[in-house]
This record gives sequence, structure tokens and C-alpha cells, in this order.
Amino acid sequence: MTNCIYIVGMGPGKGTKMTIEARAILKEMDTIIGYQVYLDLLGEEYSDKELISTPMKKEVERCRICYEKALEGKKVAMVCSGDAGIYGMASLMYELLQEYSNPNKKIKLRVVPGITAAISGAAEIGAPLNHDFCVISLSDLLTPWEKIEKRLKAAAYADFAIALYNPSSKKRSHYLEKACIIMSEYIENTRPCGYVKNIGREGTEIKVCSFEELKNEKVDMFTTVFIGNSCTKIIDNKLITPRGYKKNE
Ligand code: SAH
Repeated sequence: MTNCIYIVGMGPGKGTKMTIEARAILKEMDTIIGYQVYLDLLGEEYSDKELISTPMKKEVERCRICYEKALEGKKVAMVCSGDAGIYGMASLMYELLQEYSNPNKKIKLRVVPGITAAISGAAEIGAPLNHDFCVISLSDLLTPWEKIEKRLKAAAYADFAIALYNPSSKKRSHYLEKACIIMSEYIENTRPCGYVKNIGREGTEIKVCSFEELKNEKVDMFTTVFIGNSCTKIIDNKLITPRGYKKNE
């Protein structure tokens, strides 16, 4: 017998940006597992399900519960905000798959895509990623800072438009400033930048600013930061990275 565990990206917020496929799959489930904040965002609509959460830093445990429930014969989904394969649980679930494979009960995994914060945030702030772009997380919880620094430098040098995830937290309140100082070797102070807080949730806040101003902005862990490339402009207070079309053709 094969049982499938779905690893579902919920999109950025309260569900209005969840895909039709993701919603249909979640409706079918017996058990939905995720970080409590995401289960809360799912709201009443799924209150008939068995909802299980584990705290932050208990991600391995969260994945193991998925497998254990699936082996009990339950229809199980793991939910992640945005997309489950972008700083989400999809890869860890695959890394654990072999441990739970046995010939009698085979488990399959399926990743169900969701709108990641870079994409939903980009739509809020204009069109900052409308050319080649990079996504970089400033969290050094699972990545050594030296590697993050190297990627920031390389992305800035190569003139990518950049979306920064995890730009700050209580313990890492100065990380955005630190990142800006590193990139300032290649990015001029007037470069259009910005950020979006609480995308798709209550308290959405959109700010367009210069690279110099960005350095001193106070952002939190529910913020996605955008840094334009050398062609990015501000139009109608939105951040726009041209694709390159000629307007007079
Ligand atoms: N899997 C998620 C990303 C998880 S990493 C996704 O695909 O979107 C967590 C980081 O994502 C946050 O620190 C923030 O930078 C960004 N993020 C996630 N949800 C967000 C939201 N609703 N508003 C703004 N930024 C968000």
C-alpha cells in the first residue's frame, strides 16, 4: 500500500493567495501538521481536521510526526507558509523519507507549490523582480554567515535584483544593516529598494526607499526586503525593474 504525504505551500497569508490545488488537497486531509502560526492562519475552515503543531526549532520532530501519522494510515499534509520548497520543509521531508520506507507500507511525497514571499511581496511593491533575480536569506541559524556574506557580495556584483528573506529577528536586529554594508561595495546609495511587511496578513506595510535609507530601516521577521538592480526605478512610488522593452516600437 502506498500513502502520500502532501507538503503544501499555503502562500503568504490568510489563504486568499492559496492555490486552488492546495486548498482542495488540505480539504481532503485527516491531519494537518505545521508551525502554530500557519495553523492559526488556516483558520476555522479546517477546524474539523486533526491539527498538530511543534514549535520553531522542532522541525525534525514535525516531519517525523507526519511520517508516523501516515504510517497509521492517516491522510497527512505538512503546511508551510509561502512555498514549501523555498526555505521550507520539503527538502527535510525528502531527507527523512528513506528511514520510513518499508516494503509493506510505501510512503510517497508530493510537494504542492505555493506563492513564495518574494513573489507576493514583489506584486505589492510593483515589479522589482522583472529581470534576473536572487533570493538570499540573512538567517545564519542553518547557514554560516561567511557563506551568506559571499552570496550577498556575488549577487550585488552580478547586478541581480535581490529579495532578502529573514532580514531580521530579535537576536539579529542589525543584520540588514550588516548586509547593506557588505553590498555597498557594489551598490550605490541612491539605488531604489524597499520592503513589504506582513504580506497577505493584517498590518501589511509597503515602503519604497533608497539603498542608503534601507540600512537604517527597522524591519522584523515578517518582512521581505527588495534591492533593485542598476536599472530599477521608482514609478508611482512603486519599485520597477524594467524588462528592457522599447516604449516607442
Ligand atoms: N517558505 C516561505 C519562506 C520562509 S522563510 C516562503 O516561501 O515565503 C521566512 C521569511 O520569509 C520571513 O523572514 C520573511 O522574510 C519571508 N516571509 C514569509 N512570509 C511573509 C509575509 N507574509 N510577509 C512578509 N515576508 C514574509
